[in-house]
This record gives sequence, C-alpha cells and structure tokens, in this order.
Amino acid sequence: MKLTLIFSIFFVITESFSFTKDTILIENVNIIPMTEEIVLTNQRVFISGGKIIRIESSKEPLSYKVNITIDGSEKYLIPGLAEMHYHYRSDNIESDLKLLLANGITTVRNMAEFNGQDHMTIKERISTGDLLGPNYFTTGPYLTANNFLTIRDVESTVEDHKKKGYDFLKLADNLPLPIYLKLIEECQKHNLKIIGHAQRDLPLEFSMRMNSIEHIEEFLYLKENNSKKELYKYSDQELKNLAIKLRNSGIYIGTTLTVFDFINKCLNDSTFTAFKDDELLKYLAPDQRNVWLSEKNDYRKLKEKEFNGVKAPVLFQEYFNWMKKFTKVLFQNQVSMLTGSDTYGMVIVGFSLSKEFSFLQDAGVKPYQILLASTVVPARYLGRYGVQGTVTVGKNADLVLLGKNPLEDIQNINSIEGVIAKGKWIDRTDISKMLKEVEESFN
Ligand SMILES: [Zn+2]
Repeated sequence: MKLTLIFSIFFVITESFSFTKDTILIENVNIIPMTEEIVLTNQRVFISGGKIIRIESSKEPLSYKVNITIDGSEKYLIPGLAEMHYHYRSDNIESDLKLLLANGITTVRNMAEFNGQDHMTIKERISTGDLLGPNYFTTGPYLTANNFLTIRDVESTVEDHKKKGYDFLKLADNLPLPIYLKLIEECQKHNLKIIGHAQRDLPLEFSMRMNSIEHIEEFLYLKENNSKKELYKYSDQELKNLAIKLRNSGIYIGTTLTVFDFINKCLNDSTFTAFKDDELLKYLAPDQRNVWLSEKNDYRKLKEKEFNGVKAPVLFQEYFNWMKKFTKVLFQNQVSMLTGSDTYGMVIVGFSLSKEFSFLQDAGVKPYQILLASTVVPARYLGRYGVQGTVTVGKNADLVLLGKNPLEDIQNINSIEGVIAKGKWIDRTDISKMLKEVEESFN
C-alpha cells in the first residue's frame, strides 16, 4: 500500500515535467510571482506545452534539453496583464489583438457587443488557435432600459445570453426596481454574471448585488440611501467605511480612470488639440480618428455647459480628483479591483493599460497593488486562478519579460523585452513587426 502511494506520487511529478522539443527556457531571470510582494532572483523558468513546467535556481546544473533559451539576466518576469475594459471598435480584430499582446496583455474582457460584431466567434477563433490573441472574455450587447420593458424581456435576454454563451451580461442603464430585481434573480438562476454601470437612482446596496461595477466614475452618481448625501461629499472616514462595506460584499470594481481623463481633455481646447500630436494616433483606426479629433466629438459640446453654476471643465476636473482619491481608498482597504482603461474615444487599445497604471500610481496606489488588480484579482474574478495570474509551476505560460522592475515604478511596465502568450515567445523584433503591421493596416 505504502509502496503504491510513493510510486503514484513519483509518477505524477514526472508526468508534470514533460519536456518536449518546444521547451523554452528563461535563464537567470528575476521572477515577480505575485503570490506575495517578493522578487525571486536568478531563477530558471521552463515552459512547455503552453505551461510553466519547472522553476529552479539558475545555480543548479542545467539538466534538461531546451529548444529556445532566453537570457533573463537583470530582467523581470511577471504574469501577463489583464485589460478588463476593452471595446473593439474597428473592423480589424487582428490589429487590436496585436496591440494588446504588444503591451503585455494576455487576458482581455470585451465590454459590449455592438451591432454587426460577433465576439463569440472571436473568442472561439482565439481559443482554437486560429487567431493569436489574449484569453478573450466578452459581454453580450450593451443593454439599456429599452431592452427591458417587461419581465418577459428580462427572461428572454438572459436566455439569449446563455444560449449564445456570453461570459457576462452588461447592463448600462437605470431600470425600474421590479425589472432590476427580476434581472438579478434571473442571472443568478442561470449562473450568468451581471456587470456594468450602477443603478444610479437606487441606494448603492442594490448595485452591490452585481458581480462588478465597471467604472469608479459610477460612485460619483450614487448615494447610500435617499436621504443621505452624495458619496463624493463624504469625509475621509465615511469613504473608508464605504470601502470596507464594498470589500465585505465581495464585489469587484473596474478602474477606468483613463477614459475619464480623455473626456476631461476634450473639454479643454489645448489638451483637445494636443491629441493630434499624440504619437500613438497611428494605432487608432482612421474612421475613429476622424470622429474623435473633430468637433463631431460629442464631449466637445459639453465644454461650455454649466452644472449647478459650475462650468463643466472645472466640475469634471474636480470629479477626476475625487475619483483618484476614492481609488486610493478602495485599494488601501483591499476592495477587489480590476484594471481596465475603457478603450473608447482617444483611449488607444493596448497602450492605454499602462496609462491606467500611471493614473493609479498618481492616485497613490502602490505598484504591487496595481499589478494584483491586473493579474491575480482578474484571474480569480474570471474563475481562472487555477491556471493564470501568477508565475508558478503548472500555470499557463502567459508572461511578460520586463527590462526594469515594475515594483519600483509602475511605469517600468513599458520596458517590455518580450511577451509569452499561450507558450509562444514574442520577442522585441516580433513586437515591432506587429506594431508596424497595425500602423499599416490603419493607414
Ligand atoms: Zn465601456
């Protein structure tokens, strides 16, 4: 009996180290595993069959044959990043996927299926390897009150989501209470995650029944109950208490500071004009550029508007400052946060995630906390922590190799030396080539 047990353990261990011809070795690298705030120096990482199969010290004698050796000296290996608020707007999914991968993003959540789009096919093509791209998750259509006029509409919408296989139902509007309650109940019954904007006309507790609230901005428009003041008028202590309530509810919150910054920049002539000189403009589809850089951009109409006697540009800047302050409180109190930039307007796919990271760092969030919100927390949220989110044995080889330590300054996330997506090594030359192809496709 004992003998069998020992034998079977031995068998399992050798089985999990299946070295094959495609084995990649990253030699002498510093690992940021994301299991704790730690850097493991001088490590050797073996990747095979799309998985991390072994990690050992580089001081050990090398006793395995490998196909590709990557010099990891003075470089940092982190889990692939998650862009949790992505919108696909061009007609060129290949270009978007390249932009995401080039920026170290190996998990992406598309936040709406607009008319004419078919995100389940994109998801399918990525999962079968027909398209190289990040692990792809998607909501169904962008749903508003018009989609839910009756209880029957609620039932049929949820049924439709289950039939099509969407990962999430996205709600982006206020609903009458009976309709909202029915929708929450139907989603629970069918095990469908309901996410999106908050119910701004209802006390916050109702919105906490969703799986995630997708913008910190939503909290600008909320109250805890009808008699109470707006959250953005709360004292520091009240904000802390609120963050603890959110944490204890288990809800996840998407950040999306970048898109709010974009809106602010549209309200100011000089920052709006500066968009034209943005060197990343070449990575935005021409039809999008034409709309957002012109006066057709709807946010330009807001610039002369006043709200309660305050000019929109001033008010929105105050809002943004409050959002950053609240962001810090949410992170400090261990609310489950998800990094997302909201690739809309001039928020450029792929590149916008590091911008989001910079806003979070400016808000006072520590780099390790930011990385958690882009690796471990999204993995848990997506039900994928068993296979992604950390650099540890047995996890999928979705990794980013950086030239500088991101724990010292989150902007070091831009020092990408290479990306491993589904076990495939994409080096600096491949990345430059991918970016060039995108630029040409958008010419
Ligand atoms: Zn969105």
